[in-house]
Amino acid sequence: MSNWSIFKFGGASVKDPEALRNAVRLVREYGTSPLLVVVSAMGKTTNALERFIQARELGDTAAAATELGAIKSFHDGMAEALGVLDAELRGQLDALWAAAERVDSAQAYNPRYDAVVSLGELASSRILAAALGADGQHTAWLDARSVVRTDAVYRRATVDWAETAACTQRALAVPADVTVTQGFIGSAPDGSTTTLGREGSDYSAAIFANVLKASSLSIWKDVPGMLSGDPKVFKGVVRLEQVPYREAIELAFYGASIIHPKTIQPLEQGGTILRIRSFVDPEAAGTEVGPFAALTPEVPCWMRHENQVLIEVSSRDLSFLSEGHLSEVYRIFAEEGLLVRLEEHHPGQALQIGRASRRE
Ligand code: ASP
Ligand code: MG
Repeated sequence: MSNWSIFKFGGASVKDPEALRNAVRLVREYGTSPLLVVVSAMGKTTNALERFIQARELGDTAAAATELGAIKSFHDGMAEALGVLDAELRGQLDALWAAAERVDSAQAYNPRYDAVVSLGELASSRILAAALGADGQHTAWLDARSVVRTDAVYRRATVDWAETAACTQRALAVPADVTVTQGFIGSAPDGSTTTLGREGSDYSAAIFANVLKASSLSIWKDVPGMLSGDPKVFKGVVRLEQVPYREAIELAFYGASIIHPKTIQPLEQGGTILRIRSFVDPEAAGTEVGPFAALTPEVPCWMRHENQVLIEVSSRDLSFLSEGHLSEVYRIFAEEGLLVRLEEHHPGQALQIGRASRRE
């Protein structure tokens, strides 16, 4: 365990000047040095960049220019409102948007996509770093692509853990008090930009926590923590105070959308405590995910899945479904990319029920 800790700010926590100012305050008041801040693209910027790419793909240059123009002025407005739009930051942002226009259309689509959508995180991290600096905090900016090394599977790259650990430790050997970097992005062996899959910034934060052996990772959210169910669907849900890693993986996997399902495993491996904290009410206890023996409070957790399909599988001749048959059935589900959410098995009646939905 090191003395590193990590803060992760999602798009909502930097979506407007007020939110961004609040993030700066949270770092000042609750951060301890050395701190790594992992930030997502501001608000809905990733979606806007996707629309920009789509317009370009369709050859609609006017629509593409409009999209990019809106993205540029949104970021300029943020930087201006924070009072940090000096020549240096202006140059950095302009270079990013120029890169969006330059992306090589001879390249395959997926690498082009990654080269463009990654600009959202690059821009937000530049602005946040400038705002922290202006707040008097000793701040450095780190290009996550120089340390998060992946394979060349664009849009859903797999991390090369050994390389990533070595590069990150080297880059952060003599850290500033606060280092700002990007979630979601990495680089392929040839240096080109990759992304880890939509909503992948939590996972990035967990990768950094793992390779830095960070003692804690705080994910700042607009909710008071992890709840025992979606309050829009279930009555009487409660905040979970302590959640064992295993339970958190299960909750995330089965659809508690508060954290990306891939986030927990690297944290468990490194023994990092995950804290889900409210950026609206930072003094509140939030939720801790860690090496706990049981859920506190010990309550049932609820999830509702929509658009599910019920599939019944049985043998034609009323013979029992053996393990061999079951593994065959599961192989077919896996090959079709179908996620079985619930399974009921009645061996005597040779019946198997699955509720499946297509995995992203
Ligand atoms: N900005 C990226 C996305 O919206 C990554 C993230 O927010 O986690 O998918
Ligand atoms: Mg986002």
